Amino acid sequence: QLTLKSSGKDPYPDWKPGEPVPYAALCTTFSLIEMTTKRLVISSHCSLFLRQVLRLTPQDLLPTVQLMINKLAADYAGIELGIGESLIMKAIGESTGRSLQIIKADQNEIGDLGLVAAKSRSNQPTMFKPKPLTVRGVLDGLMGIATVSGDGSQGRKIAGIKKLLSAADAVHAGKGSKGIDITKDKGGASEAKFIIRFLEGKLRLGLAEKTVLVALAHAMVIHETEKKGNKLPSSEKLAEGEAVLKTVYSELPSYEVIIPAMVQHGIFNLRENCKLQPGVPLKPMLAKPTKSITEVLDRFEGKNFTCEYKYDGERAQIHYVAEDSPQQYPSSLPTGKGAKGLSAIFSRNSEDLSKKYPDILAKLPTWIKPETKSFVLDCETVAWDLVEKKVLPFQQLMTRKRKDVKADDITVKVCVFAFDMLFYNGESIVQKSLRERRDLLHEAFSEIEGEFTFAQHGDTSDLEEIQTLLDESVKASCEGLMVKMLDTNESGYEPSKRSRNWLKVKKDYLSGIGDSLDLVVLGAYYGRGKRTSVYGAFLLACYNSANETYETVCNIGTGFSEAILEELHSKLKDHTIEKPKPFYSHSNVPKDQPDVWFEPRFVWEVKTADLTLSPRYKAGAAALGDSSGKGISLRFPRFIKERDDKKADEATGSRQVVEMYQKQEGVSKSKGPSVDDDF
Ligand code: ATP
Repeated sequence: QLTLKSSGKDPYPDWKPGEPVPYAALCTTFSLIEMTTKRLVISSHCSLFLRQVLRLTPQDLLPTVQLMINKLAADYAGIELGIGESLIMKAIGESTGRSLQIIKADQNEIGDLGLVAAKSRSNQPTMFKPKPLTVRGVLDGLMGIATVSGDGSQGRKIAGIKKLLSAADAVHAGKGSKGIDITKDKGGASEAKFIIRFLEGKLRLGLAEKTVLVALAHAMVIHETEKKGNKLPSSEKLAEGEAVLKTVYSELPSYEVIIPAMVQHGIFNLRENCKLQPGVPLKPMLAKPTKSITEVLDRFEGKNFTCEYKYDGERAQIHYVAEDSPQQYPSSLPTGKGAKGLSAIFSRNSEDLSKKYPDILAKLPTWIKPETKSFVLDCETVAWDLVEKKVLPFQQLMTRKRKDVKADDITVKVCVFAFDMLFYNGESIVQKSLRERRDLLHEAFSEIEGEFTFAQHGDTSDLEEIQTLLDESVKASCEGLMVKMLDTNESGYEPSKRSRNWLKVKKDYLSGIGDSLDLVVLGAYYGRGKRTSVYGAFLLACYNSANETYETVCNIGTGFSEAILEELHSKLKDHTIEKPKPFYSHSNVPKDQPDVWFEPRFVWEVKTADLTLSPRYKAGAAALGDSSGKGISLRFPRFIKERDDKKADEATGSRQVVEMYQKQEGVSKSKGPSVDDDF
């Protein structure tokens, strides 16, 4: 990890202790990272810079990390980036005195708005030297741009971008930028380039959030060791720090809370100071797909496990603190109403759903036993037929409005099916076994039919009995079963992990590939015949989080009704872009190109017969190492539904597609560890 030692000279000469971190210094690091693909080197650059921040200006550690991970705030704050191309082009044009036409022509040629901005800035004569940008200043500016709303917000967003750009250097004369043609070569510590890429939502540095987290842990351990006057820490110590930060972050995914606590108390005291807390949603534990009950029995052989119904609704995490709870919680949390009293519902990607489900929040107190003072509940909200007293299909739930729902206007009633509890009466319980958590869950709540129910389950390892449970679950309008490890420490709750300790058995996919895929719409083809006014087929991709690219995986034209095609057309048409983004990976053969390209925004669930290799698509191509560059593609894909609850980078990962393909081919019976899913 420590291959990149400081040369002895201060690499960032413009930056004195206590002064705000210069943005140019961060951009220098970005450009060094951009010029390599080696994971260890990337991580070392990152950690070296964070060490410098810790040494000189520790109060800027949080904004520095936020700029590195391309996020303005934790997910639950609901601050959206991904400003549209046309708005950015306008702002670049206006701030650099170039016409929109020229900017568009440049974008067509270069294909990266960051570079277009850098080029536009470098052609612009500088009349006076602007005040240098600082990391905290840039973060504030970006936050301002992302959060303006209401009348005239477009104009104010453009004004905000112009303000940042006019203070930005085109090419910072730092390391890594010598002799670089800013529009062609990698590197070039251009502030303008990185500001624009941040606004687009992709820095394109190959700097995954997980890498930043690890680098942060290492920087902290090294910094603390140096402060004590010791030499470099051992690799065990680095690994220990890394494990602490990963665990703490998975339970409390908020750098806003963790970083100040870490700077104040030290990384090795973080576990005591930062624990799961109501108000900060965590990424849920996810399951691995299976194709048969016998596969489940092989995996869980000799272990106790439980088979729960797999309800088909929306994942929900309910956070609650009673007014009279003896525990206090920080009122600074965006969802906290105050030091006491909190009830909020979050989606699987930490979006605040409280305004979508006012009915649940209103009834919540009636399901709680008097001794229950605080909890975090993992559950599924499912549409409920009040007359027939049964579960309704997922499509019914989707007809509910997402925001500002008035309790009196609700026509689709929901029932909450609770299957796990992560926090109870002031204590994180994720490390307890599932059996213990389930016992506490049953102690904490009372069932009310049609409002709040515990997930139906059977604790059996008998093949026949599991088959019966599966059949019954399907009769009860469920998708199948979730099979979970029940005892021992393997059954702890693993936030943000797609774990092998939870297996899903979906009725529809038995003996197929095991699961449907959630894919991002990158392009479309105009329809033929009756369908010429809408798109008739689409180009879909999975997401490769390792290098932050969207890898194409199929064309799809089946499973759409005429009405859906019209609806999709009206949604998608405002998100077209002139060229594929540089982080789209697709065949470059002319006949394989779609008629239009889109911003990566919409996620759809798709079913497939099986997977095959094709030169046209790129899913998993690098991982498979096929010399002809073939990727994995779906055969006979079929549209199932839109997945509004998933963001583009939460689509099925290319690593998952590779796993599915290899399983199908019997290429590898990988029994690797659980993988992080939602980083
Ligand atoms: P994935 O990312 O795993 O593909 P998904 O949202 O597409 O997730 P599925 O793969 O269908 O969903 O299965 C996992 C989901 O099933 C959970 O996220 C949860 O919403 C739902 N679910 C329903 N019943 C249960 C249960 N008893 N235990 C856990 N999850 C359940």
